[in-house]
Amino acid sequence: MIALPVVAVVGRPNVGKSTLFNRVLGSRKAIVEDRARTTRDRLYGEAEWNGRRFVIVDTGGLETAPGDSIEAAVQEQARLAIAEADVIVFVADAIAGLTPADQEAAELLRQASARVVMAVNKADNPSRELDAAEFWELGWEQTHAISATHGRGTAELLDAIVEALPPETDEERAAKARAEEADAWAREVAAGHLEPIIAGEDADDGIDESIADGADEVAARRWDAELAAAADEEPAAIAFVGRPNVGKSSLLNALLGQQRTIVSSVPGTTRDAIDTRLAWGRSEVVLIDTAGIRRRGKVASGPAAERYSTLRALKAISRADVAVLVIDAVDGLTAQDAHVAGFVVEEGKGLVLAVNKWDLVEEKTDRTFDEYVAAIRSEVPFLDFAPVVSISAKTGQRVDRVLETAVDIWGERRKRVPTAELNRIVSAASERVAPPAVKGRRPKLFYATQVSVAPPTFVFFANNASAVHFSYRRYLENRLRETFGFDGTPIRLVFRDRSAIKLPRRRRSPTAGRSRAVKPEKRKAPIKARGR
Ligand code: GDP
Ligand code: GDP
Repeated sequence: MIALPVVAVVGRPNVGKSTLFNRVLGSRKAIVEDRARTTRDRLYGEAEWNGRRFVIVDTGGLETAPGDSIEAAVQEQARLAIAEADVIVFVADAIAGLTPADQEAAELLRQASARVVMAVNKADNPSRELDAAEFWELGWEQTHAISATHGRGTAELLDAIVEALPPETDEERAAKARAEEADAWAREVAAGHLEPIIAGEDADDGIDESIADGADEVAARRWDAELAAAADEEPAAIAFVGRPNVGKSSLLNALLGQQRTIVSSVPGTTRDAIDTRLAWGRSEVVLIDTAGIRRRGKVASGPAAERYSTLRALKAISRADVAVLVIDAVDGLTAQDAHVAGFVVEEGKGLVLAVNKWDLVEEKTDRTFDEYVAAIRSEVPFLDFAPVVSISAKTGQRVDRVLETAVDIWGERRKRVPTAELNRIVSAASERVAPPAVKGRRPKLFYATQVSVAPPTFVFFANNASAVHFSYRRYLENRLRETFGFDGTPIRLVFRDRSAIKLPRRRRSPTAGRSRAVKPEKRKAPIKARGR
């Protein structure tokens, strides 16, 4: 379980925090995946720079109390960052110059134990860069003049941020190694035997069956074994998140109160949560509780810290397999909930929506729940994969269902689809509906393979990959879900251009790599779509 370090961006409104935030997220190594289904305005995102991964948070976008002055809002952000962040990026505006609100925020930030990196934004040219010099007076070790819109100085700023992060943990290193291996494996599988599986102009071409059933499968099995070994070490980690007062503590108490064997209860690996190990069926689960902890220190207490409990949730989510997002049945799903849920999706974690205080919903009929779910689905369509459970922590109604569902999702996230079967489904799906043509050119899919689990991730090799329309991605995702389930977990569909991959010459020595053990001469007749 890895908790990624958190980098909080703090500063007055309009200094360019969200511009910087978007630039940082845009500049990371392109993890090609479908992000269109998360919330439009992201406040949290995972970034990578110089090989380090971290979560970056735009604190300016978090909900503030109505009527808060600018000063108060900035101070709240500062308190929040002090309480939760590993590195604080304090953004100011070179054009506006040093303002009293900046001064006050700086005053607070000096109390932070986290490193503070000062960024003076809108230094679009050398003369503005000089203007930025006045901020040295605030006394931070580093003051970076940057231009978030033009990208001036942002690379150096990122260097400084990564420098300031706490040392990389073994878990972070291991996770990175796994990701790299998955990537390498995908390339190997793809290299050398990419045959069209898809409708289009030459629909007769088919996938090479010997590949799907042969060496590739050997590689897949080996990979499976490695994954299984890794998975066995860790029990399912389930994080309980949600706004204050929705009933997280009550739900946990209801779950723990039922004479279960609590194996151990320890502060989590970070200061942000309490982990409880619990016997569950034949195995164990770890419940990550973000509610039970009161904020440490003086600066971190008070209503602001309570309201901003979302940051704590992020850390819990990043080290969980499945998040249980508890919402209040009466209030419904708020914008803040949607942001947290969007982060769950982005992190590729499983999700259960637990609608608590169901006992307070009046005049229920047998359609009330379905209508409630329909309302949620239409509000946040990107969460349509997540099961909804209505519960009452107070009466204990269906609370067990929450854990059962979460554990099921844990299993769904670990499913691996054999390549041959996958390609049969994709082949059938694309025969039924071919990818729509873009500017007269029809993208063509050649080959699909699952490169990793938790979350299940599929790479589709295609020509014109970037032209595969979002709606078609959804179509493929729905076909995969129909056939293979994956309930409660995001799945990732990655489209790579076949031309982007260096294809080895067909006749080269077959000893150069795992996947090349397949002899191209021995190709069988192309498969036509089966099963349909
Ligand atoms: P936030 O409220 O701190 O998140 O600020 P925004 O990112 O929304 O930016 C506020 C305004 O400043 C927008 O009009 C941006 O286009 C502008 N802005 C952001 N970064 C720069 C920059 O580097 N140079 C200039 N000249 N304008 C910028
Ligand atoms: P947390 O801040 O999310 O941990 O919320 P708590 O567990 O402290 O609950 C907040 C308040 O909601 C308390 O007064 C609980 O008694 C009440 N509450 C929690 N669950 C339920 C429920 O299912 N039904 C009703 N009616 N009240 C609940």
